[in-house]
Amino acid sequence: MVLNQLQPFTEHARPLQLATLPDPVPAENEILVRVLACGVCHTELDEIEGRTPPPQLPMVLGHQVVGRVAQTGRNAQWFKVGDRVGIAWIFSACGECKFCRTGRENLCDDFRATGRDVNGGYAEWMTVPESFAHPIPEIFTDAEAAPLLCAGAIGYRSLKLTGLQNGQALGLVGFGASAHLVLKLVRFQFPQSPILVFTRSEAERTFARELGATWAGDLADPSPTKLDAIIDTTPAWKPIVEALRHLERGGKLVINAIRKENADQDYLQRLDYPTHLWMEKVIQSVANVTRQDVREFLELAARIPLKPEFQEFELAEANQALWELKSRKIRGAKVLRIG
Ligand SMILES: [Zn+2]
Ligand SMILES: [Zn+2]
Repeated sequence: MVLNQLQPFTEHARPLQLATLPDPVPAENEILVRVLACGVCHTELDEIEGRTPPPQLPMVLGHQVVGRVAQTGRNAQWFKVGDRVGIAWIFSACGECKFCRTGRENLCDDFRATGRDVNGGYAEWMTVPESFAHPIPEIFTDAEAAPLLCAGAIGYRSLKLTGLQNGQALGLVGFGASAHLVLKLVRFQFPQSPILVFTRSEAERTFARELGATWAGDLADPSPTKLDAIIDTTPAWKPIVEALRHLERGGKLVINAIRKENADQDYLQRLDYPTHLWMEKVIQSVANVTRQDVREFLELAARIPLKPEFQEFELAEANQALWELKSRKIRGAKVLRIG
């Protein structure tokens, strides 16, 4: 499924089209992967609508890719044919800058993103440098593993950045693929921590309660406790400002979004220093995920075991899956079944 043209995603739009492309050939340090499943991520909407556009078109989107190694490049040696691997957002990085040299390739200026800068997993085949492929633990099916590669891994990184300790209260603003995995993770890692979920959608609130949220409501509601940490996964600005009212002194709000939509950016004018920021409140963004994040998270998720709630679509139904994401018909994650 290829993106040929950037466009606003409206109800009857079909931004992705089925196409037949030449089979990719692995370069010497790459592996060729037969794709079996690919997760659907909000970042695809940011790409289609031009907030983080592919530098060239057509482009095959998709960066939560699970597949089996079908061929190895001449110098590739870590995987053998038949191994199951995952491919995440970072497809490659320069390997030489101060960030790459300290395990922070997520901040590398020259990193290339899977499914944005190079063809990704909304396809039957893809190639990837072997050092950016990740072994998938046995315990997961292909479809279960796919959402772990972005939604799960970025949720894991966001949670690490909050510095949450067991017993401290966590707020989740928005309750999609990433947040529902964070909720499951926190219940395991920090069983004493109350988890409050803020979302406008009654269906998402119900889902959050089913998964064990302590409380679920709207940001305008009085919350039962101040929050030591908040993770925001919404595409908007209003929730940021509103969430800061609920943040405890010295607390941290982590924004897990590659781009915010601009529709309600004016709302930032309502930021009131004493109410929203004073008392050492911290706001931090989370950018991409490192290989270490992905691998640590996959191992942790296998141990728990932590499995996503998800809904499957055929590859040719990718537009439908994306539209449901855009229109917030969300219950956990969405996965394209390909192999
Ligand atoms: Zn993603
Ligand atoms: Zn670099």
